[in-house]
Amino acid sequence: MYDLVIKNGLVVTAEHEYVADVAVQGERIAAIGLDLPGRRELDADGLYVLPGAIDGHVHMRTDRREFIYDDTFETGSTAAAFGGVTTMVDQAQVEPGTSLRDGLAARMAEAEGRSLIDYGFHVNPREPDFDQLSDFAAIAEGGCPSFKFFMVYDGFRVPDGYIFAAMQEVARLGGLAIVHAENEEIIAEILRQNVVAGRLGGAWNATARPPEMEGEAVHRTLALAKVAGARTLIFHVTAADAVRELGAARGRGQDALGEACLTYLVHGPEALEDPVSGTAFDFSPPLRDAGHRDALWAALADGTIDIVSTDHGPRRRLRHPDGSLTTPPGTSGIEVRLALVHTLGVLTGRLSRSRWVDVCCTRPADVFGLSGKGRLQPGHDADIVLFDPARRLALSADTLHSAIDYSTYDGLEAVGFPVTTIARGEILVHDGELLAEPGRGRFAARRYGPMRLPAAS
Ligand SMILES: [Zn+2]
Repeated sequence: MYDLVIKNGLVVTAEHEYVADVAVQGERIAAIGLDLPGRRELDADGLYVLPGAIDGHVHMRTDRREFIYDDTFETGSTAAAFGGVTTMVDQAQVEPGTSLRDGLAARMAEAEGRSLIDYGFHVNPREPDFDQLSDFAAIAEGGCPSFKFFMVYDGFRVPDGYIFAAMQEVARLGGLAIVHAENEEIIAEILRQNVVAGRLGGAWNATARPPEMEGEAVHRTLALAKVAGARTLIFHVTAADAVRELGAARGRGQDALGEACLTYLVHGPEALEDPVSGTAFDFSPPLRDAGHRDALWAALADGTIDIVSTDHGPRRRLRHPDGSLTTPPGTSGIEVRLALVHTLGVLTGRLSRSRWVDVCCTRPADVFGLSGKGRLQPGHDADIVLFDPARRLALSADTLHSAIDYSTYDGLEAVGFPVTTIARGEILVHDGELLAEPGRGRFAARRYGPMRLPAAS
């Protein structure tokens, strides 16, 4: 007799689909089979049974002065659970002047006891302090073996020489280098020319980031990664030019990984024109036209792009003295990713159901080193989603659970939506009701196989 058995659902994994019962004992999946008996049973007839989704790119609220985001660990993780997400990876964006270890400890303290779901951190060095590269080993050993580097944004950007040295250290540790790859100098020059010509606003800002230059930056990043020998993930690939570079790196046998973010799969540059919501999309890399979006979907289908994340980090709207509203740059999505990739990927024939599960649930576990998650297999964490393919939801702040007053996907209807979310054997959400308290989520220490320890010197 198992603690919990999910009966009669269509189990969809990254490889197969079949009708079976899924049995849970304690926090783990205990068995998958037919006629399994449970002390508690959930009938999943007509539903898909999926591994819990993993969002490896989110930003919850932080206490600093800028870039604070409005979903807290409580509200953001609750929205996540309603959307079938059982693990998220946030970023420790370490303040300049703070050591990486202290910065990570501070971010961990902000999350401690607040999240409904399990969580981890990428560590983001925001200054090129070569002396701190020696701290990567202890940070990786502590369960954060992924390091994020920005090629753009004042206050975040670090030079290529530092990224290269950091990649060498990441390679030595068997970790993951993550890069926001763009060409800062060319962006700055085109923006300067735009200002001189009076070309202002989000649509013009987007023209400062041509797809060719994203391709150039991804090429440069993957060349650095090849020489350094580092497993490298390109965050938010948006351009066909960048997809080609990823494909070329794969072709030469490189451990080159790609992420698509939901916003770039769904929206085109015309979204920038809305006076209230358009300002939310004034970010970098920019929204691109349908040809590039088609290239992203095709790359997800053929495996050139590995995963879909959200870069969830929205802000509430601003009301100005004249009564007008604008939306600060940022995107929501943690609650709707699984549903929208189903709606816009599976139901349009762009992705198979198994590939959908792979890019949202299973492959992220491999990419981010979450070895006990992302799969419906005995011994794995019992992170399970019951997904109703017939449930329709009009997306808006009213129907979703983030602590913001809009949704990046306002006006869209999701076809198919999670109805039950189970994390480490505990039912978090069932039939629209929240059944667990934020604070139960744990820090998920991540590892890539056996961690190679630095040689004693
Ligand atoms: Zn981000």
